[in-house]
Amino acid sequence: MFESLKKKFSGTIGKISDQISSQEEEVAEKKAKTASKEDEKVKKPETTSTDKIDKEMVKTVSDNENKPTGKDKSNSDSEEDEEKKSRFSFFRRKSEDDSKQGTLGDVSDKERDSIISASDSLKDTTTSGNEEEPPRDVEDEPSGLFTFATHKTISEKDIDDILFELELALLEGDVAMEVAEQIINTVKEDLVGRKIKRRSDVAKFTKEALKKAISEILVVEGPKLNDLVQEAKKTGEPLKVMFVGVNGTGKTTTISKIADHYVKEGYTPVIAASDTFRAGAIEQISHHAENVGVKIIRHQKGADPAAVAYDAVEHARAKKKELVLIDTAGRMQTNINLMDEMKKIQRVVKPDLAIFVGDALTGNDAVEQARKFDEAVGVDGIILTKADADAKGGAALSIGHVINKPILFLGVGQGYGDIMEFHPDWMVEQVLGE
Ligand code: GDP
Repeated sequence: MFESLKKKFSGTIGKISDQISSQEEEVAEKKAKTASKEDEKVKKPETTSTDKIDKEMVKTVSDNENKPTGKDKSNSDSEEDEEKKSRFSFFRRKSEDDSKQGTLGDVSDKERDSIISASDSLKDTTTSGNEEEPPRDVEDEPSGLFTFATHKTISEKDIDDILFELELALLEGDVAMEVAEQIINTVKEDLVGRKIKRRSDVAKFTKEALKKAISEILVVEGPKLNDLVQEAKKTGEPLKVMFVGVNGTGKTTTISKIADHYVKEGYTPVIAASDTFRAGAIEQISHHAENVGVKIIRHQKGADPAAVAYDAVEHARAKKKELVLIDTAGRMQTNINLMDEMKKIQRVVKPDLAIFVGDALTGNDAVEQARKFDEAVGVDGIILTKADADAKGGAALSIGHVINKPILFLGVGQGYGDIMEFHPDWMVEQVLGE
């Protein structure tokens, strides 16, 4: 489920991490080159042996260390510190490498000690030079050329192109434009300005930002069907739920799944076969009702759908049933007659809830249908079918936000038990979990 959406998000996390890491490596490389050039300058041209060069480097560095005033004062302190740091880093590495390879073997113990102590004293100076204004986010990790630079702050420039790519990918995956835009903006707002202490922070921060953005999209306040059914049982007045949506989305199967679900919860639903437009529809829902063991109220083809719904409500009242599930004709959302028919049902039985049933596989179409039905009859909640076969996840991500109504259930298969309550946290975990 939603595999393609998950891939897009994990791709974005990877790209942002790579982008920022590679920039850091470039900076480190540049610093290394500068350090190396500086180093070349202090070498005497006629000196060729390695140990002599090393000694000369130590001497130069020590000289700088011992004479921090005078003409060097013309440079700013920070520039001087930077220069020392670079040179020191280079020297440290070089002397460590050399000592590993034994090239300092020619140097007497005394000379080697003086090299090491010169390095250490320079390190102390470098550290104390920064004492007044310590880098804020580097306490946990050593700075230097050969570790990930720990002082990076994420800028808009770092992530703009990658987020633009994500936006396009989301649009291609049937995520609604306004939803894709909001995700990108939230992620950008969250990431820009964040300070990175270690390489893994980038992925962690990006994932957190995406999770936050998606949660904000998915969390929509709305009715809780379970609470309402419980309430109906207490009051003795049945809860009337009207299902709307176009043909083929899985509306009759879904009504049967809901009936089955509440039968298992100890309730006694009744179904109103108010899609009287097609004889096939009446037969189909009657067959489902029989399968799940609930009463169906039906009239003949072409009868008034509002009258069927009315009879079902009366039946429920008489038999103390808590739940009336009203099927409606599933013609296109643009069909005026259909909309009038549904409005008549609303006038006659005053359903407590109108639930839009949409097919997740139709992506943007499902979102547009939901918008149209909401405008026409007012939708309170959504059930998205065929989520089990939906890799894109565009409709699941967008539909609730677009019409500002919650997804209540997801259809996850063809069996009556294949329905699950929808929880935003669950979806976030699906697309951004491990
Ligand atoms: P209606 O015309 O809207 O009433 O659609 P139906 O209820 O007849 O369903 C149309 C087809 O979709 C049927 O073959 C159902 O088995 C199938 N279907 C419905 N819900 C789901 C679902 O959640 N997952 C899958 N995979 N198929 C479903």
